[in-house]
Amino acid sequence: MKYNRLLCAGIAVSLLCISSCPTPYTNAQNTSYASPAPTKGRAYYEERGDIVWEVPTHRKLIALTFDDGPDESNTPAILDLLQKYDAKATFFVVGSRVEKLPHLVKREREEGHEVGNHTFLHSSFQYISRNKALSELDQGQTSIVQATGAGTHLFRPPGGSYNDSLVKLSKEKGLKIILWSWHQDTLDWRKPGVYRIADKVLRNARNGDIVLMHDYVHQSTQTVEALKIILPELKKRGYSFVTVSELLSNREKPDGLIEVNK
Ligand SMILES: [Zn+2]
Repeated sequence: MKYNRLLCAGIAVSLLCISSCPTPYTNAQNTSYASPAPTKGRAYYEERGDIVWEVPTHRKLIALTFDDGPDESNTPAILDLLQKYDAKATFFVVGSRVEKLPHLVKREREEGHEVGNHTFLHSSFQYISRNKALSELDQGQTSIVQATGAGTHLFRPPGGSYNDSLVKLSKEKGLKIILWSWHQDTLDWRKPGVYRIADKVLRNARNGDIVLMHDYVHQSTQTVEALKIILPELKKRGYSFVTVSELLSNREKPDGLIEVNK
């Protein structure tokens, strides 16, 4: 029985790693710091509030998240669409790209969106030294501060890798690890087609979802085109699009009461 549970956890983790965002700027090192296979399963970290996949709520709220940007054409196009549909979102930015396009991250904040740390070089955290992990977090944070005047308390590790060491390090740095709803991984970085991206989100939409998309996918505008379908349809169904922090503030206990100061 115990073996079966471990096997299921292993399969789930493998699926998570396979289906998560790519690591185009890999800079792996030999010293394993945050290994790809977490030492404990999702429930362990979720119950403690160490890592967030989605947020239990009865309200019709969804958090759209965009990784790997900013991108000089896709990010402004996405911001325009979000504005058109009165939607707020969260951008998990890569510091080295922020340094090249700081005005776009500034615009994200100015228009009411949230910015999260997605490291500086998008290095894989699978085999990374503590020093390199620290530098990825710190440099990512510095780039956001330089672009917008303030840092962030949200962090999304590249590829969704996590373990005890990374959870501890994130806490030390005042960062909360945010992943995404497993049923809302659009795989848009694989360029599966506009309608497949849109269908994934629309078919699975539930209260409290955190949707994973990318505003930087090399030579692709599929995410932008899919948003033109997703935003009006979900709005028609009564959903509001909020930042991750706003979604977290609507976390409910099983009895429906909203938890304050969580
Ligand atoms: Zn990424």
